[in-house]
Amino acid sequence: MPEAVALLVAAGRGERLGSHGPKAFVRCGGRPMLDWSLDALRAAGIARIVVALPAGHEAPEGCVGVAGGTERSHSVRAALAAAGGAADVVLVHDAARPLVTAQIVRDCLAALTEDVDAAIAAAPMADTVKETDTLSGSQTTPVVVRTLDRSRLWAVQTPQVFRAGALRDVLDQDDAILATATDDASLVEARGGRVVVVPCPRENFKVTTPEDLQLAGLVLGARGR
Ligand code: C5P
Repeated sequence: MPEAVALLVAAGRGERLGSHGPKAFVRCGGRPMLDWSLDALRAAGIARIVVALPAGHEAPEGCVGVAGGTERSHSVRAALAAAGGAADVVLVHDAARPLVTAQIVRDCLAALTEDVDAAIAAAPMADTVKETDTLSGSQTTPVVVRTLDRSRLWAVQTPQVFRAGALRDVLDQDDAILATATDDASLVEARGGRVVVVPCPRENFKVTTPEDLQLAGLVLGARGR
């Protein structure tokens, strides 16, 4: 397997969590949330890790730290720049997913075969998904337009693993375009790149709300027993 560099994005404010401080540094399972991801990345054999940080936070020991950006993609771009040009393969992971395992990291790295531009962790959709005529969060009552075919849908996670050149190319775009991307793979898809899904457990969920934080702490605690 080619040597990979990992970009751990940890610069989000975590407003929906309602914590006093950035989400990645909130304690989860007895330690700062980002430490769990660092363990999984290292256990999978990744030695070079760049962390995109919120203001006022230091890089964890053994990692390169860089100031994060306004939106997630801006933080990824800053971390990639700090990583330099040495690695052929770049893995991007959200510090907000502390339940990632070394096995998931290894599976995503292994899925980046020669004909692939990106390999992304995702869980098969468990819920039925419907499309409505209004945007979520708008004041009007959403009316269903259609029900999507669940058997073809995936709830996308991180890690997302890229050919370094492909990721560099797509991040070299206007801030406004990057700001609309909710993941990095969508930028590669938009350029016609080949993105493959790595089936992963739903357990690798993103901590967004206080309930998520509680659940993640319980799962991590149970893993330790
Ligand atoms: O806000 P959300 O939960 O979608 O963020 C996903 C990940 O991206 C988190 O780990 C967060 O710290 C990171 N992020 C970042 N820079 C931002 C926004 C989010 O590094 N400006």
